[in-house]
Amino acid sequence: MRKTLYIIGLSTFVFSCTSQQNVKKNTYKPKTPVSQAKPAVKTPVAQTPKPKITNEHGVEFFTTNLADPAKNDNTASYGSIVSAKPIGYKVVKTYFPAIAQNFRQRYLILHYTALPDDKSITVLTQQGVSAHYLVNNTGDNEIYQLVDENKRSYHAGVSAWRNDKNLNDTSIGIEIVNTGYTADATGKRTFAVFSDDQIKKVAALAKDIVIRYQIPATNVLAHSDIAPTRKQDPGPMFPWKKLYDEYQLGMWYDEAAKQNFLALAQEEVPLKYNDPSFIFVIQTALQKFGYYVDLSGKWDDATKKTIEAFQYHFRPQNYDGIMDAETWAILQALNQKYPAK
Ligand SMILES: [Zn+2]
Repeated sequence: MRKTLYIIGLSTFVFSCTSQQNVKKNTYKPKTPVSQAKPAVKTPVAQTPKPKITNEHGVEFFTTNLADPAKNDNTASYGSIVSAKPIGYKVVKTYFPAIAQNFRQRYLILHYTALPDDKSITVLTQQGVSAHYLVNNTGDNEIYQLVDENKRSYHAGVSAWRNDKNLNDTSIGIEIVNTGYTADATGKRTFAVFSDDQIKKVAALAKDIVIRYQIPATNVLAHSDIAPTRKQDPGPMFPWKKLYDEYQLGMWYDEAAKQNFLALAQEEVPLKYNDPSFIFVIQTALQKFGYYVDLSGKWDDATKKTIEAFQYHFRPQNYDGIMDAETWAILQALNQKYPAK
């Protein structure tokens, strides 16, 4: 569509130039009175396709896309158009919308509440935290909306992924009712399962959001991915692979690529495990994939927690925070499949 706009713009420009030349030529013909000269074409902006704005009960909506629907920068709006009403003046939409714009919603972040249903609702609506949506665990077909998608909800906190920080600004947050984990005397965590009903709800909701805002697979993440030193949710029981396989949501590695990396990983991990330069390589790979981690060259607490967060998401059978050969092979396969732009 952009191309079309460009072509329309270009042809208008050419037409304007031709008109001016004609006027000039006419001016030099003695027999042509000046008063009969063709008026210059008024304005090229009039050629822009007219937006289809609908008005329901005095509220305006705009859902036509004038830009690239495959990108996050299209011009459709999924809510009412919010406009100023300056006293004594009229805001008009003669030139609405400019095509240079994008959605604020560029990430989808999944959480568990670590609370039962009733307490989840109270905390997420009456206190200092919130999410756009809450998926209950009551077996019905309802999903609760708590915050307008156009506004920020307070779900991510201090967070980072690739070049972005403070992801409340740029994300939609979904909270899933789940009691989280219990820890034994050694600190080993056991996580609660999600019901199939909940996973179907989350998948349908996530799919709808990802399609409307064209959120890339690399930006569909766990809270623990964007805040690995602070958060565990939605934890290793959340079925990321099922979401990828059955709903084409989020990221997953290709098994063949993992196997390719595994042979070398099985040799080098035991050999170089305590070599600072190898730890640096691992930390660089985690950082390249998206995690915010310092390149310390040490197996420090932040690095271990980041590896644990990675395992919750991509190797949930064992989430001990230790970079073993399989974890290293999966990380490399993912970096190959989803390179940072
Ligand atoms: Zn969370």
